[in-house]
Amino acid sequence: MIKCHIVQDLLPSYIDGLLSAETEHDIRQHLQECEACRALHAKLSASIDNVSLHVNKKEIDFLKKVRKKTTKKMVTGFTVLLLIFALLTYFLAIGSPVRKADLIYTTSVVGDTWRINMQLTNGKSLLVKTESIYGEKDSHGVKPVVGVLVKPHELLPSPILESDNTSFMFGSTIDSFNKRDYKVILRLGDGDIVFTSDNYDKQHP
Ligand SMILES: [Zn+2]
Repeated sequence: MIKCHIVQDLLPSYIDGLLSAETEHDIRQHLQECEACRALHAKLSASIDNVSLHVNKKEIDFLKKVRKKTTKKMVTGFTVLLLIFALLTYFLAIGSPVRKADLIYTTSVVGDTWRINMQLTNGKSLLVKTESIYGEKDSHGVKPVVGVLVKPHELLPSPILESDNTSFMFGSTIDSFNKRDYKVILRLGDGDIVFTSDNYDKQHP
């Protein structure tokens, strides 16, 4: 039987599997018979496991960092693409608000409809967006429509869009103007023009 101190010296190599089959066999046998060496073996094995666990965690952290960086790069790339798309959309489809000096508009009452005709005069294309204006919730929790926002935008003439689109007509029933606080707001780049029951049927330049 090998002496304890020799076994204990060899334990690290034994755990790492670096010993010859013969020595390994002897040590295994010694461990079965000697409680002290068995205890040390258990202790050393546990601490080596900890070390390898620690390394694994570091590796995992590193991998996580790499993945984070990759994600960041992808997000950046995507943002740039989105920005380019937004700029293209801006110039081709959304445009910018029309200024008062570039728009001729006339209003008229035809039957029970109030009309506003708009004509863009700066050679660009006219795109008019409209959206409802809602008031405070009523007793039923419903927000009533109290007006319309009319937003003329100018676009660079585009081969995608129709060629003759410099004018637009918006209509609203005269009944609407009889409702309290109803208004049509013409939102231009340099200010609003507001039509209410007080002024909708008056002449505008
Ligand atoms: Zn021993």
